[in-house]
Amino acid sequence: MKTAELFGNKTVFSLEIFPPSPDSDESVIYNTLDKLTDIRPDFISVTYGAGGGRNGSNTIRIASDIISKYNTTSVAHLPCIDLTKAEAVQILDSMKEHGIENILALRGDIPDHAEVRGDFTHADELVTFIRENYDFNIIGACYPEVHPESKNAIDDLIHLKYKVDCGVDHLITQLFLDNRHFYDFREKTQLAGINVPIEAGIMPVTNKKQIERMVKLCGVELPMKLVRMLERYDGDPVALRDAGIAYAADQITDLLAEGVDGIHLYTMNDPYIAHRIYDAVKNIISCPKCCNELKISV
Ligand code: FAD
Repeated sequence: MKTAELFGNKTVFSLEIFPPSPDSDESVIYNTLDKLTDIRPDFISVTYGAGGGRNGSNTIRIASDIISKYNTTSVAHLPCIDLTKAEAVQILDSMKEHGIENILALRGDIPDHAEVRGDFTHADELVTFIRENYDFNIIGACYPEVHPESKNAIDDLIHLKYKVDCGVDHLITQLFLDNRHFYDFREKTQLAGINVPIEAGIMPVTNKKQIERMVKLCGVELPMKLVRMLERYDGDPVALRDAGIAYAADQITDLLAEGVDGIHLYTMNDPYIAHRIYDAVKNIISCPKCCNELKISV
């Protein structure tokens, strides 16, 4: 199924996983998927080369298995920064042969030490390339707190609008830890005439080192409420995990009340945490969207 067909009267709930490293046990990811698919997410997306090697064969195989073995819609991520057009054709053909219908078209992070050698400079070029040559549903990334390389928020928004106009069907945000950033961003996209659904990317904060690294890498604000939580529970992993689950559930509850199009949970391949968060919000998510809209009488 194409993800664009999922939006409408319901709030989409999707999950993100990453493939195992090439030297680790393959079965682990399938144990993870056995548990994650119990949630019956609207789709599961599979990252590609994030934080490591650029070999995407794992991504393609897992995204294909999510469809055939778990009867669940999948999204394959595809960063283009070091791809030639011929390589992109090979990968996209393989995705099509494996029954994948949805691509998260990304630029990817510019490698620190290696020379960039590909045919694509920004994600909009990959979106155009896919639109012109294939029938995939295309998803794009966006940044409520502005992409770290952008000169300013306006510049980032202009580029986002152009990328969407090239053929993006829906957007997924970078993680954010204060919903006010999402609401400001959503308002700006509406003013800019970006009319595709925007899913909010939520990352549970259950590990101090990991979130400090993400905050630095992604340039997102760490709210004082979270700083205090991290300080208080740092020495107690179970307390920190439970506080992080409660924080993410609270963020999602607020987003649902504000009529968000969808929630994309960065699971970090941890089904226990994903289940706990889902259990806390599932009755709110399944409420038809029309009930979530504010009715103000004057
Ligand atoms: P772009 O849309 O190209 O934007 C990058 C920067 O360039 C922005 O500052 C933008 O304003 C600017 N820009 C855009 N178009 C133009 C233009 N035409 N001219 C000038 N400037 C322009 N990375 C991976 O390697 N693998 C993954 O699986 C992965 N999954 C991700 C999933 C999500 C939901 C998100 C939010 C990010 C993911 N990333 C992944 C990280 C992503 O690759 C990086 O954030 C990357 O730095 C930007 O990718 P992009 O597609 O947003 O780039």
